[in-house]
Amino acid sequence: MDTIIPFQPAVTLAVVGDRAQFPVRRIYCVGRNYAAHAREMGFTGREEPFFFCKPADALINVADAQTGTMPYPSRTADLQYEVELVVALHRGGRDLTVAQADECVWGYAIGLDMTRRDLQGAAKKLGRPWEVGKGFDGSAPIGPLHPREKVGTLRGGAITLSVNGERKQSGDLADLIWNVAESVACLSGLFELKAGDILFTGTPQGVGPVVAGDTMVGAVDGLGELRVRVV
Ligand code: MN
Repeated sequence: MDTIIPFQPAVTLAVVGDRAQFPVRRIYCVGRNYAAHAREMGFTGREEPFFFCKPADALINVADAQTGTMPYPSRTADLQYEVELVVALHRGGRDLTVAQADECVWGYAIGLDMTRRDLQGAAKKLGRPWEVGKGFDGSAPIGPLHPREKVGTLRGGAITLSVNGERKQSGDLADLIWNVAESVACLSGLFELKAGDILFTGTPQGVGPVVAGDTMVGAVDGLGELRVRVV
């Protein structure tokens, strides 16, 4: 096919133990999905989950056992980390039941939902969209995918984040307000999900700022570590 400009490079995730890559279609994110984090952001209770998107090319691939880098973004003085379990879907659909949604999950990775908290806060206050706070270039560092058939279905286990060796976030996947399948089912009522979609499932309490030179280490039981240095 002749094209006016070159096709964009495909966005893919590496897969642990496989040379094949996982092509990424869309990046969805759940907001406020751990009670203690919802409280620290000023909310309470089990509200309906809500979602936002990041552009697929905001993804930064971090290879297994490597330290990735992310550039400190422009126009912020409050870049914050949010360590999250990321799930990758190998099928999709609309209005999925929780059981159907569960069958869509192909694998898991550790991701950082990096946030310009000052811009997000200003957007919230003014009733404006969140893209500048959440969807900036390089806002989604992610480690390689672990196939579910290898690691099993993750229903619990520690999820943590340290900065320069100091523990900042600590939670358990069992404490998700809306678990993975429930989140995917709910999302499928808003968007038709397709193979290649990935979902950031929310962050536990303890979010905070990083500056250039800091190294973040996210960890999820069974998925190893994700190391990212801010440059
Ligand atoms: Mn988040």
